Amino acid sequence: MLATSGPVGVMGGTFDPIHLGHLAAASEVAHRLGLAEVVFVPAGRPWQKSGRPISPGDDRWAMTVLATAADPRFTVSRVDLDRPGPTYTVDTLRDLRAHYGPDRPLFFITGADALGQFRTWRDPDEVLALAHLVGVSRPGHPLPPPGLAEQSVSLIEVPALAISSSDIRARVADGRPVRYLVPDGVDHYIGKTGLYRDRA
Ligand code: NAP
Repeated sequence: MLATSGPVGVMGGTFDPIHLGHLAAASEVAHRLGLAEVVFVPAGRPWQKSGRPISPGDDRWAMTVLATAADPRFTVSRVDLDRPGPTYTVDTLRDLRAHYGPDRPLFFITGADALGQFRTWRDPDEVLALAHLVGVSRPGHPLPPPGLAEQSVSLIEVPALAISSSDIRARVADGRPVRYLVPDGVDHYIGKTGLYRDRA
């Protein structure tokens, strides 16, 4: 049963594909910050991404559901996939604030690298009013995001984040295994659908 009160982590990412590093990061942040729930939110159209096609939203959604199903603290939201237009975190947080109501603190969790560009995001001050930011990174890469006050952001190191989605895509394209880097269901889904097999 999901908690109906307590702080909520909002795990934002492209999840192309989701991997064990993402799950370890969500679990570590939930433990450290005492989160009652972590909702994974696959991005719809990540507007600052260029140079490579993103896998269809329905595939990224299906893999995220498969990956999170076994953990009672984890849920998945379609708010970014179902909203037309580019994905802005301020819209994600407005939608989730409406869904969860005014009383549940929100913690927006994403890669510390992604937060490096935070000041270029749409309505960054409203984002900060809606949620506390959590940047997760692998050890040895402490990246205090520029332009962010210390009290607005927590940085948490997660060893398992040595796994990366780009490495997994490259491994599949080369015919190398990704078993034990992604949950079994995601490994099977990638094999069955042929995702990432063609590097292009
Ligand atoms: P990205 O640039 O693809 O990712 C940058 C780095 O962060 C990569 O190393 C990535 O590793 C890691 N990362 C991304 N999400 C993560 C997560 N939830 N947990 C741990 N590591 C993560 O980032 P992105 O996926 O496009 O964007 C991340 C989030 O920021 C999304 O929710 C997106 O909507 C939001 N964002 C918002 C704006 C805006 O509002 N204007 C602009 C940019 C991003 P992997 O590739 O292994 O995940």
